[in-house]
Amino acid sequence: MRSTRLGALALLLACTGATAFAAAPYVFPAYNDAPHVNADCKRMLDDLKRSAAEIAALPDGGKVLAALDAMQLRAEDTLGPLGLLTSVHPAKPVRDASDACDLAYQGFNASFLQDAKVYAKLKQVVPADAIDARLQRDQLDAFEDSGVALPAAKQQRARRITTELTGLQQRFDRRIREDKTRVPFTEAELQGVPPAVWRSAPRDAKGRYRIGLDYPSLDPVMQKADLGSTRERLWRAAISKGGLPNIATLGRIAALRREYAALFGFSSYADFVLRRRMVKDEATATAFLAEVQSAVRQRELADLALLRDAKAAQLKTAPQATTVQRWDVSYYTERLREASYAVDQEAFRAYLPPEPSLDFVFALAQRMFGVRFAPVEQTLWHPRARAFSVSDGQSGTLLGTLFVDLYPRPDKYNHAAVWPIRNVSTLAGRLPSAALVVNFNDKGLTLGELETLLHEFGHALHGLLSSTRYASQGGSSVKWDFVEAPSQMLEDWVYDPKVLAVMQQVCPACKPLPAEMVERAGRARHFAKGIATSRQLLFAGYDLALYGRKRELPLPLWDRMEGATPLGHVPGTLFPAGFSHIATNYAAGYYGYMWSLAIAEDLRTAFAADKLDPAVGRRYRETVLANGSQVAPEELIERFLGRPGNRDAFFKSLNQQ
Ligand SMILES: [Zn+2]
Repeated sequence: MRSTRLGALALLLACTGATAFAAAPYVFPAYNDAPHVNADCKRMLDDLKRSAAEIAALPDGGKVLAALDAMQLRAEDTLGPLGLLTSVHPAKPVRDASDACDLAYQGFNASFLQDAKVYAKLKQVVPADAIDARLQRDQLDAFEDSGVALPAAKQQRARRITTELTGLQQRFDRRIREDKTRVPFTEAELQGVPPAVWRSAPRDAKGRYRIGLDYPSLDPVMQKADLGSTRERLWRAAISKGGLPNIATLGRIAALRREYAALFGFSSYADFVLRRRMVKDEATATAFLAEVQSAVRQRELADLALLRDAKAAQLKTAPQATTVQRWDVSYYTERLREASYAVDQEAFRAYLPPEPSLDFVFALAQRMFGVRFAPVEQTLWHPRARAFSVSDGQSGTLLGTLFVDLYPRPDKYNHAAVWPIRNVSTLAGRLPSAALVVNFNDKGLTLGELETLLHEFGHALHGLLSSTRYASQGGSSVKWDFVEAPSQMLEDWVYDPKVLAVMQQVCPACKPLPAEMVERAGRARHFAKGIATSRQLLFAGYDLALYGRKRELPLPLWDRMEGATPLGHVPGTLFPAGFSHIATNYAAGYYGYMWSLAIAEDLRTAFAADKLDPAVGRRYRETVLANGSQVAPEELIERFLGRPGNRDAFFKSLNQQ
């Protein structure tokens, strides 16, 4: 995921009758208005209620796993598309109706997962093999964590908390997504920022350019605006997105999650959640973060000293009397990067047009995993969104469908993420589908953005190249602290000249990327790693603390934790108000990015000799990607690497210069 921003995946997972084998690409359903969403939502709920009653009435455990998975497929039919449309559909009534459907489904699911009859049937299942046993265990966990074994009063409270949480999370995200903040600047104030970034921005009555907080505007200003006051004004607006209402919402969310865990006798929501993850508990997660922090502390301080010296030199002040502010970090980091490595990220745009960049990642998948992507004509939620079929390169067998939405527009989700629309099920003959959403500049990508594209593509491939028996175990249903490993693994592919040469093959008309420019960028990416890693550790530590043993309100906790860092806290700023990950499904799970990165670095060792090695790629596809969550992650890592996983490569990378 990205360094200073919150990056990457927002798996808005939907949580079911078998469908006929699909030999044609999945056709994304048209939801043109709210009544259509509402009607389809009602049909889904009716179907799910009927299936639930049928499972409760089964004579024994024989067909329970398949029946539960059929409910998953049915829910995905509706919630898969709607979960995406909430974040990308141009019409607010459709987005709002999609949110309402999710709320209704969460209400149904909270009750269903407390159904003692279904739970009893699930316990009667005699697993046929290890895959069935794993699904049975995971499903029992889901019922137990939803309160099936709690007394009636606590069960009711658990359901109410779940429903309230869903509504609060939706409001939290909506305030961020629909934020219309723009900050006005004169041309002089934008000195240093490429005109392409601001020339076509709307103007105010005084003729000033009104700059939005979308990444294609925000990043260049933070990295290039020579005036500290310009960077400070835009940074202050961006860092407080969501505002005080979101701080209040996050406080309520944390309190509700704490109360939920307490229903089960846990004093820490983190402990309640993490016992189902690779990490097992809050203490282990905290200790892992501390170990990484101590590995990068000196590097962070050295990085900051370099930034301070650069600022002092530019402003002609004494270094000792110079303070690096938070809004200085991107600017001086980029400035030093350019000076030391002659790397200007903006300069990459001319070489990396968006469409050929997409063809490039498709071609990598073809080389590594033997799969082909081909455009499919479909009418989607927006004219610029597109559909692609995915098929096996050798046999031509259709494997799944990918949707791609590349460019920013008002009210669209403004980070980069993949939505799993449908999970694969070999049992039901169902093919997977996913949607990749980013916000790229029409004029081209920076190398950093190409890295983001590969990261998200890694998530998409995880879903699309899974071939699990049950949809409930497809692709990104893996443990939440493993889910970022396949995506992060691919990020550094973009720094390999042999990999980048593929760009020339997919786009002969594109200007070839000069080899030394890539080589310099490859070295430059390790610059300021101490600062970037420490920032991620702060985010992860804050998340664990917010949901941990000791109760503290979101803002005082943040002020205290950020205040303890070398750059300190800027009074009045509201970073947690925009921290969507932890308000939603990454709660007590943000550490997973770092945990997964350690795994990703380990997985990369198998590709050390040749990142495009088709034999290694195939082994990776058939072990890690194909198995989703039907095999334990530790086991997948060992099968792929031929040895148990370790963190040697990760700790080595932290010190790479
Ligand atoms: Zn991700």
